[in-house]
Amino acid sequence: MHTHTFAGGWFDRAGHIRRDDLWLQAQKRREDARYLVMSRLRALMTVDGDIEVSWRSGDEVRPFLEADCMVVLLGLHEGVPHFAIDISRSEDPRAFPEFGRYLDVRSAASQAAGEQAAVLSQARSLLDWHARHGYCAVCGRPTVPHEAGYMRQCLSEDCRAQHFPRTDPVTIMLIFDEDDNVLLGRQPRFDDGVYSALAGFVEPGENIEEAVMREVMEEVGITIDRVRYHSSQPWPFPSSLMIGCFAYARDKEIHLDQQELQDARWFTRLQAAAMVENWDDKGATRMPPPLSIAHQLARGWLRGD
Ligand SMILES: [Zn+2]
Repeated sequence: MHTHTFAGGWFDRAGHIRRDDLWLQAQKRREDARYLVMSRLRALMTVDGDIEVSWRSGDEVRPFLEADCMVVLLGLHEGVPHFAIDISRSEDPRAFPEFGRYLDVRSAASQAAGEQAAVLSQARSLLDWHARHGYCAVCGRPTVPHEAGYMRQCLSEDCRAQHFPRTDPVTIMLIFDEDDNVLLGRQPRFDDGVYSALAGFVEPGENIEEAVMREVMEEVGITIDRVRYHSSQPWPFPSSLMIGCFAYARDKEIHLDQQELQDARWFTRLQAAAMVENWDDKGATRMPPPLSIAHQLARGWLRGD
């Protein structure tokens, strides 16, 4: 199994008991409960020495709990409850300066050890979802959190609609030809020199293979077949699941959709290997950094997956 950055979390998410509000309140009150503090989607991280989540105790975050800041259960680790708390809208959104700095999750994840990135990913996606879903999509009335943060319910007696955190599937694919070349493209927003795997959201009523075929046809006008799943990656910006695939082109001629892509090209295996190795060289034609599944798919292909 390939465990990419943002996956591989260590928590027991306690799905079977987190709906029990009495249990949940007891967990929040435990002396050993730990809280990941987030402010405007940035996470409080220790920056002296190793970059890690700067876990705070229930006592330390009590003023924020009492001010009704959003809290979600991340899960249990060795029996200890771990939560994430969003202090953005509190009176002190920059609290705990003595315990670290608020880092953007992407840069924190690229510097911290693997499980740390998974914790950040879960917390960021969940807290962002709550911040955006204060009102019912059915009737427009306010919603309130339930189930330790894994559901919101409409307050209107006539509606009571339940809303669940979203995960949006995105296919991301390396396309090969019969001569061992790989097709990569660049969007206008990419840094100069960066080429990556083609990607796009799965649409309603499509399976993964169909989404891969449609996206490749739309973006570069190439018919593909033999779509094969490789691995997947949670991508918490805000809440995608990147579904990595390999597929083979039936023809090679590129017809670029210039609305989506600035350029797309075939690269040889040697060129691709250099692009993976040179990901950190701003002057080079290169792949995105190792934290991205695009980089890891290319690495996987180069080593013979
Ligand atoms: Zn409603």
